[in-house]
Amino acid sequence: MEKMSAKRWHYTIIASMVLLTSIGSYLYILKLEKRQQRAARQDALTQLGNLVRLEEDVNYLQLVKRKPYTIILLNLLEFKNINNWAGYESGNQILMEVGKRLSVGIVEKHTTYRIGGGEFAVLFPGTRTREQAEEITANLCGLIQRPFESEYHETVRLKVYAGIRNAVVNSKDKAAQIIHDVVFACQEARHLTTAPYAYFTDELGQLDSERKLFVKELSEALNRGEFKLVYQPIFSFQEDRFVSFESLLRWDSGEFGLVSPIEFIPLLEESGMILEVGDWIIQEAALQVSKWRSEGFPELYVTVNVSVKQLLDESFLSRVQDILLETKASPDSLVFEITESVVVEDSEKALATVTKLNDLGISTALDDFGTGYSSLAILSLLPFQYLKVDRTFLDDLDSADSQAASVLRGIVSIASGLSQLTIMEGVETKEQLDLLKEIGADRIQGYYFSKPVPPNQAFELL
Ligand code: C2E
Ligand code: CA
Ligand code: CA
Repeated sequence: MEKMSAKRWHYTIIASMVLLTSIGSYLYILKLEKRQQRAARQDALTQLGNLVRLEEDVNYLQLVKRKPYTIILLNLLEFKNINNWAGYESGNQILMEVGKRLSVGIVEKHTTYRIGGGEFAVLFPGTRTREQAEEITANLCGLIQRPFESEYHETVRLKVYAGIRNAVVNSKDKAAQIIHDVVFACQEARHLTTAPYAYFTDELGQLDSERKLFVKELSEALNRGEFKLVYQPIFSFQEDRFVSFESLLRWDSGEFGLVSPIEFIPLLEESGMILEVGDWIIQEAALQVSKWRSEGFPELYVTVNVSVKQLLDESFLSRVQDILLETKASPDSLVFEITESVVVEDSEKALATVTKLNDLGISTALDDFGTGYSSLAILSLLPFQYLKVDRTFLDDLDSADSQAASVLRGIVSIASGLSQLTIMEGVETKEQLDLLKEIGADRIQGYYFSKPVPPNQAFELL
């Protein structure tokens, strides 16, 4: 009996130990999961809630509690730059301080989140008017604009802009939409001069929808055949005739009418669509110039604007070669116009690509000379055959002994020293033309001769 009861004890102890260990590990796993769940909703640096947490909280207020609230988004302007010049340590310290100021700096009940690199959000439950929401936002901006004493660096001052969205109970909007609205308002605040914040209104919502429609239509424009090239003649003093055309892109949109390239080219670039559209432009210009060459103008060439995004793309050169093969266009019938921002982005790669283009037989022109950062340095850096001088130089060109004339003489002389031909852009009057001839410019382009026109009219000009 004694033996048996000792055995039973033995088993009971083992069973209890197994049970306890299982419970222990179960609790441990539970704790770990909870910690992981919390971590998934928390910003590791500031310990504030992150975007996931913000979305959850907004959804909770909107769909479960059905209570009105105000959401304010604050974006630290060029925060990345601070990391660059002050270092990550200081950057992190400042972010933590911003989080702290936003959390404790105002009395109204609120929750603060860090939802991206330099992006913070503050959520206020309750109803408030636009004026009240704007006043709170002004205070929040004020908290961030106060100087930061950094341990590693001198005093730092931050610029901030903000978006505000008052949300009402009966709206069907989901958290994602509300947050999207406030981000949009915040982006709009960048363009404002009156205050560093923008309040989300129905009109702003309308603008947002229009922009989305614009981008959607733009993305279909190529397939729908809505893009066209127009051509503006370039006159040569030496030859006393038009020697080439600049091709310029036009979008004839069914929805928006004729849209200026200044409005849509940046969008093509941002979205990456410029690569496909850019190929089409080169192809179209190549076919057109080949046609003109065969119609009695064998030396004519067409200049094509090439965006920085295209030039720095890995497969750009091989695609250009393909286009030359497909269109049977001669490489010397094309000149690529490149703006100097390319050098700022990646000068080594730009140099390699421009050199290879030249090897292929395609000449290059530096466009908008005088408007960028590195005007003179870039001239000796990249092998351009043409220098297109921006039309802002013509603004003060009223006489041969004006300062503008001296500057232009200098530019012409530098270009000629580098064996580059100068093309003066935006010439509108006979007076400008005469002065530029006297100064020694090689070529002229502008409304004085013609606006950019469709191919058939361009042919008549020839
Ligand atoms: P850009 O390359 O500097 O083109 C010259 C711009 O000046 C053209 O505007 C032209 O119409 C305008 N212009 C020409 N002569 C005169 C003049 O005498 N007076 C005045 N006030 N303006 C004149 P556009 O066609 O609106 O093009 C604007 C810009 O859009 C271009 O500036 C270029 O940066 C970009 N762009 C146009 N087509 C293309 C393209 O096919 N590809 C790329 N990547 N960009 C393009
Ligand atoms: Ca151009
Ligand atoms: Ca230009």
